[in-house]
Amino acid sequence: VSAAQECRRGQDCTERIPVYGPGGVRTGWTPAHTDDALCGGCRRTLAYALDELPRQVLAVEAEQLPKLAIIYRQDDCSGGGEIHAPIPLDTHLDAIVRLIDHEVCTWADFVADAMSLPWSAMATRMSRTIDRVTRGSILLRRNTSWLLALGPHEYRARSLGENPWSGQGRGVVVRRDGTDFWVERDGPAAAIRILELFRATQEATGQIATTRLRTPCRHCHCRTLNRDHTRNLITCSTCGNQASVERHEQDERNLIATAGRVAS
Ligand SMILES: [Zn+2]
Ligand SMILES: [Zn+2]
Repeated sequence: VSAAQECRRGQDCTERIPVYGPGGVRTGWTPAHTDDALCGGCRRTLAYALDELPRQVLAVEAEQLPKLAIIYRQDDCSGGGEIHAPIPLDTHLDAIVRLIDHEVCTWADFVADAMSLPWSAMATRMSRTIDRVTRGSILLRRNTSWLLALGPHEYRARSLGENPWSGQGRGVVVRRDGTDFWVERDGPAAAIRILELFRATQEATGQIATTRLRTPCRHCHCRTLNRDHTRNLITCSTCGNQASVERHEQDERNLIATAGRVAS
């Protein structure tokens, strides 16, 4: 008998349950309990994401066509203190496509290797991005249980930011090799990263208009801040406080600076 554990997606778990504090105010979420790394809901979400990923990559590529304007962000995409979600919300589109390409193909390669399936990494490298992502997504979709059963694998770090180590999450970057960084993830962690990237494509193409932030509201301290991607506004659904994204980010930086001064 295996003891049920919390779904590895944590706060993002599809079947998460709200936690209420005094006065009936929601204080957070608890992930579903499951005998596997990911709960049934999250496994279904993964299957859906892998089915849709090639279409999403085309949609993100299409977003770049009319303007060819790529906005590079100078700041560390993890926000420096991991105050933001690991995957940034408005990073440039090209980086999203390249990172999906990297993660999907790396893990398709690992799964193919574990199953002794034919998968030529060399031929794959020479094909077009969309063909690669399509083949990789199909392989992972058909063999999701193999992906989720994979133990820790080390591979080259890539990110949406300028630095390969940005936004990788805690304890994922394992070593530096000259100018290259290596990360270690197991199959479930890779699945979660693919889900985060899938969501990034939905945000980039405007299919998801709002995102729940993880940071508490400065006014009422509830974790109920929503970021509206089309209006570039952050609104608290508990107290109704609103701020522009720029203002919110400046407040966060001030908060970190103040915390640093108090600690030292
Ligand atoms: Zn879950
Ligand atoms: Zn509030």
